Amino acid sequence: MTAQLIDGNALSRTLRAEVATRAAALKARGVVPGLAVVLVGENPASQVYVRNKVKACEDNGLHSVLEKYPAELSEADLLARVEALNKDPAIHGILVQLPLPAHIDAQKVIEAIAPPKDVDGFHVASAGALMTGMPGFWPCTPYGCMKMLESIGYELRGRHAVVIGRSNIVGKPMALMLLAKNATVTICHSATRDLGAITRQADVVVAAVGKRNVLTADMVKPGAVVIDVGMNRNDEGKLCGDVDFAGVREVAGWITPVPGGVGPMTITMLLVNTIESAERAAEAT
Ligand code: NAP
Repeated sequence: MTAQLIDGNALSRTLRAEVATRAAALKARGVVPGLAVVLVGENPASQVYVRNKVKACEDNGLHSVLEKYPAELSEADLLARVEALNKDPAIHGILVQLPLPAHIDAQKVIEAIAPPKDVDGFHVASAGALMTGMPGFWPCTPYGCMKMLESIGYELRGRHAVVIGRSNIVGKPMALMLLAKNATVTICHSATRDLGAITRQADVVVAAVGKRNVLTADMVKPGAVVIDVGMNRNDEGKLCGDVDFAGVREVAGWITPVPGGVGPMTITMLLVNTIESAERAAEAT
């Protein structure tokens, strides 16, 4: 059996077209949806991510403001910028690109973002909203994974979903989203014993670790859905995920590739959250 691919590029195109339609409808009402992206320092990977986010906004009818600051920017000055963006009615989403320089407390900066503009979904209020089923913004990467499952019409109710990884930005929110859809959820991490014994029971596996070949064919139940969040480099320097793609695709029913899987979905869900925020703001006025 060769697994069917869940194509993150194709799904992103569909979802981004919906964002563009919603942006045009808002513009017709005099509201231009706006995202502010704040970058501190010269981290090369961050510069690429930020460029891609700004371009995705421009391509889909959203206004974006890129604020770039030197690595020496003080924490107080960054907090002041966030506060100004909180008050700016033209800005509906605020994203502070992580990591921040070591002298800045990243969590403090995230907590300074007004929750209605927290389109990354990292604020503790957003985490609490997800946990309790209240309205709020969901972190983009796990939200994108949920959209991928939705796109194949996968019914999660009663299924066993195993999430490998428990970070605040991927693993934990992923587990909560799967739980909200009535899956039975197991979370694995670096202290988990016999990972394969657990993943072999899974109808859905989400790998969010950051290590190559964490999930190999012998660890996967035939027909399972495998979502690969990982972003690593192989020996040739090419982008690869956490999953041994060549082996696992012969066992799984569905699988996401790397690249072209979860990666593009993350930016797509940022656009979705931003348009949602702009619509909420427009409704409130
Ligand atoms: P992270 O904060 O480093 O968390 C990694 C998690 O994996 C931790 O919970 C860790 O357990 C667990 N882990 C480590 N070794 C393990 C092992 N051998 N078996 C089982 N679990 C293990 O990373 P993250 O931010 O969640 O990101 C995970 C991966 O996703 C990275 O490759 C990252 O680049 C990628 N990512 C991709 C996107 C995208 O858009 N595609 C977005 C975000 C992240 P402990 O908690 O016990 O340490």
